[in-house]
Amino acid sequence: MKIAVLSTNKNLYSTQRLVEAALKRGHECVVIDHRQCYVGIKQGEPSIHYKGQDISNIDAIIPRIGASVTFYGSAIVRQFEIMGVVSTNASQAITRSRDKLRCMQILSGAGIGMPITGFARQTKDVDDLIKMVGGAPLVIKLLEGTQGIGVVLAETRKAASSVIEAFYGLGNNILIQEYIKESRGSDIRVLIVDGRVVGAMKRTAKEGEFRSNLHRGGSAVIIKLTKLERETALKAAAELGLTVCGVDMLQSDRGPLVLEVNSSPGLEGIEKATGKDIALTIIEFLEKKHMAKAQPKERK
Ligand code: ADP
Repeated sequence: MKIAVLSTNKNLYSTQRLVEAALKRGHECVVIDHRQCYVGIKQGEPSIHYKGQDISNIDAIIPRIGASVTFYGSAIVRQFEIMGVVSTNASQAITRSRDKLRCMQILSGAGIGMPITGFARQTKDVDDLIKMVGGAPLVIKLLEGTQGIGVVLAETRKAASSVIEAFYGLGNNILIQEYIKESRGSDIRVLIVDGRVVGAMKRTAKEGEFRSNLHRGGSAVIIKLTKLERETALKAAAELGLTVCGVDMLQSDRGPLVLEVNSSPGLEGIEKATGKDIALTIIEFLEKKHMAKAQPKERK
């Protein structure tokens, strides 16, 4: 196959590992910066160009779309889809999961465990909003935040209402969430490929920090999931329609609570914690999808 990794930086660990795994399996592989792609939309003849070249001959793509370019990035993935190119994730699933609020609404509708979460727009609703999530301490999150940036722990009701009002004043959309104190600065990341758990790790925040993101100095170790944790992660991925993703969950007294589902999960932490070649598993999944697409044609 001719595989394209859609990534803005070819030097990132995950991008490099995916290229390495694709080459190891005997494929051609290129890294394409989706921001530099442009599309032709014409009746029955969709096309896609990159740096002056028609790249419509690509067989499979691995979108690694960052939060800041979701709109454009998923439009490029959609164009590839229309052209019949196989992808690790569907464009619609990427957009669906990227919006934290939409993601939480879908998961709550499916009965998946999550911290009690509130969303509102008007400053005058703040007191009731705080009550709705069970009072302080509580967590306030910027809707568009990633890697733990824009996630604030407010220890008191007073601190919470000041932070909420400040975020509103700046015109930011925020989520307010029950603080799960028994998770004690740890969360679990479950890597899913094609409806299977391919790796799981427990991340723990550094001293004095409640956010366990590896980008915030957290550390990770391999973990054996409980049956419920495994089922919850698989259900969350399925509800969002993501075939390759990372599901983040908190371990709470009432079972696993999903925080978010990431359609471009980083591979470095999970490969190092588990010792598994997850990049290779992703390439094998693409091979399977590509075969499944080719078969009906061969039978004609
Ligand atoms: P991001 O998408 O920026 O990583 P998250 O919602 O995953 O934001 O939050 C970052 C980290 O903060 C989580 O990995 C977890 O360790 C901690 N955290 C987030 N929400 C809660 C919560 N409701 N209760 C306890 N800890 C939380």
